[in-house]
Amino acid sequence: MEQIEAPQDRVEALLQEQLDDGSVRCNVCQRRCVVPAGRRGWCMTRLNSKGTLYSLTYGKVSSASINPIEKKPVYHFLPGSTWFSVGSLGCNFRCPGCQNFEIAHMAGFVSTYHLTPRDLVGLAENQGCSGISWTFNEPTLWFEYTLDGARIAKKRGLFTNYVTNGYITEEALSLIAPHLDVYRVDVKAFSEEGYRKVANVSDFQGILRVTEKARSMGLHVEVVTNLIPGMNDDDGQLAGIASWIAERLGEDTPWHVTIFHPQYKLSHLEPTPASSVDRALAAGQGAGLRYVYVGNDPGHPRQSTCCANCGALLIERYVMEIHKNRIVDGACPDCGEVVPGRFTTNG
Ligand code: SF4
Repeated sequence: MEQIEAPQDRVEALLQEQLDDGSVRCNVCQRRCVVPAGRRGWCMTRLNSKGTLYSLTYGKVSSASINPIEKKPVYHFLPGSTWFSVGSLGCNFRCPGCQNFEIAHMAGFVSTYHLTPRDLVGLAENQGCSGISWTFNEPTLWFEYTLDGARIAKKRGLFTNYVTNGYITEEALSLIAPHLDVYRVDVKAFSEEGYRKVANVSDFQGILRVTEKARSMGLHVEVVTNLIPGMNDDDGQLAGIASWIAERLGEDTPWHVTIFHPQYKLSHLEPTPASSVDRALAAGQGAGLRYVYVGNDPGHPRQSTCCANCGALLIERYVMEIHKNRIVDGACPDCGEVVPGRFTTNG
């Protein structure tokens, strides 16, 4: 075997399809790269060595931290619980406003260390975490590692969360979904042009399809749209996202609209104006969504959860902190309305 990485960093890739000419098709993400021998896939994390595809980032950790699940953001799954967040390198998108561009685009030197899936789970347990979030970079890119980690985590009674851009294939999702609890997906735009601008991909229908599949497989789904001025915050796209969530995922699905902080190749833009946030909230209301949240805007009243029936304040949040949680047995204590999601560890 060709040795271009330490042996521990290189495992045979799942979902590969060997082709007659020695190239290999990777079916982990919707790019479905055909990788010639000796070359890497579009994301640079998968190498075709002599007709076999290898993942080069198995266990290669670039970032890890312990945070409340609100940071992802996820608001309707064990609010206030602490999760172990871990990420690797690379991405299958090229978002000009990327918030993690050093690790996602491997821009410059990024130090990494090796962590086995078993050690990852052990660390999460030792730190008293409720679960593990694969986040910071696109988790699909180190799919084999996330699958092994999720399997072990579930066996040990931890919860699991994929923080994803949704470009995973249906077959990859089918493999990992039985070991996942939460699917926190970005829907970045609602037109080919919008997706091209914010992520450098144009085919976004597959993202919607796979998200619907995640929902139908019983995962807890929350959707995030980062509002980038002039790129994805026009009324047509906001209404499109809101209506799709309501119709295909359900009106109870939380939708987080978040303020864009100018970054990377979009540092020249202004942060999201309040008028865009208001239009997104109106789009959510127009589509019948019952839980639309505003993120990255400390003190905004729409960080908190109110009962969709009687309007009572149920969870009062400030940034990632929970100041008050009045939910009792998954319901509003005032009117008994059930709040969608999971609010206790035992179901
Ligand atoms: S995971 Fe990487 S190699 Fe595989 S299809 Fe996606 S971009 Fe291509």
